[in-house]
Amino acid sequence: MDHKGRRLRLQKALPAHGLDGLLVTHLPNIRYLCGFTGSAGALLLTQAGSVFFTDGRYTVQARAEVKAAKLVIASKAPLATAAAWLSAHQQGGARRAAPFRVGIESEHMTVAARSLLAGTLPSNFRLRRAPALVEKARMVKDRNEIQCLRSAVILGASLFDRALDVIRPGVREAEVAAEMEYAAHKAGAQEMSFTTIIASGRRSALPHGRASQAAIPGQGFVVCDFGVILSGYCSDMTRTVYVGHPSAQARGVYRAVKQAQQAAVDAVRPGISVGEVDHAARKSLQKSGLAKYFTHSTGHGVGLEIHEAPRVAAGQNEVLQAGMVITIEPGVYVPGKWGLRIEDMVVVTERGCEVLTPTSKELVTI
Ligand code: ZN
Ligand code: ZN
Repeated sequence: MDHKGRRLRLQKALPAHGLDGLLVTHLPNIRYLCGFTGSAGALLLTQAGSVFFTDGRYTVQARAEVKAAKLVIASKAPLATAAAWLSAHQQGGARRAAPFRVGIESEHMTVAARSLLAGTLPSNFRLRRAPALVEKARMVKDRNEIQCLRSAVILGASLFDRALDVIRPGVREAEVAAEMEYAAHKAGAQEMSFTTIIASGRRSALPHGRASQAAIPGQGFVVCDFGVILSGYCSDMTRTVYVGHPSAQARGVYRAVKQAQQAAVDAVRPGISVGEVDHAARKSLQKSGLAKYFTHSTGHGVGLEIHEAPRVAAGQNEVLQAGMVITIEPGVYVPGKWGLRIEDMVVVTERGCEVLTPTSKELVTI
């Protein structure tokens, strides 16, 4: 991964945002910018270069992972170390006419952490809420990242075969999830992208119904939403199967969701806004009168985090660019009755998009 190039591009952009430095504290952003995969760190970017702060537990790991940046390892928490280092090394006032403006990631910083910074830094420093610069850069994936995402998607998709082996009437949802997660770890996944969702019967109407102790009924939809993390990158997919013999109505609503999902996939190309992709799915569901049951957004960016920019939702203006990786996941949910969703991951290409998820979307009955 080109960590140094990513940092240089960001450093160059700081003055345009009225910043002399950016203090990165969100761990996925730290990983993106310097490769550090541990759980405690802070990264300072200034025009002069980058400084990475961590604690003694990560001495060996930080030296191995973080290249071309200055390393400061102390016994204190990384943020406290960063504040002390800034105070000692980045003099404002006395030598500079203007105060030193430090950007913080306000979406990710606690009030306590901000107070610690404000209380430690001398009066010639100013804390500024930085725009989501790193998240913005992370939206467009480079070739290496797309390769990582492809591998995660393939491993993730293999778990659906396991689900099909296990899903039977009377089997508990949690048991299905456990079998899938066991298979994932045996196949080399670092961890699951999120807690596996297996939602059967009436619970299928809960868009984020985590696998429960409920037994799978003899009749109805089972929503399976799952993903793995491989080399730090997340996969995410949903397939809905039918246990028992589906009625014509059940087949009809499945077909409508499948068509809506395809309509949104077909809309994905560079230059179109994510709001328009969302609209394509909703418009398709309007034809069958199901749009009012589609109660969440159409998708989200996915990469080092399971949910990242852009949000593929109504009213969102972000314009798709080649290299963005998003999910397309319309669903319909009739509370207390049934629900279903179909989700793929797609990468935006120069002309349109490529669906990364290899799994068929035909209705599987068990
Ligand atoms: Zn999902
Ligand atoms: Zn998703």
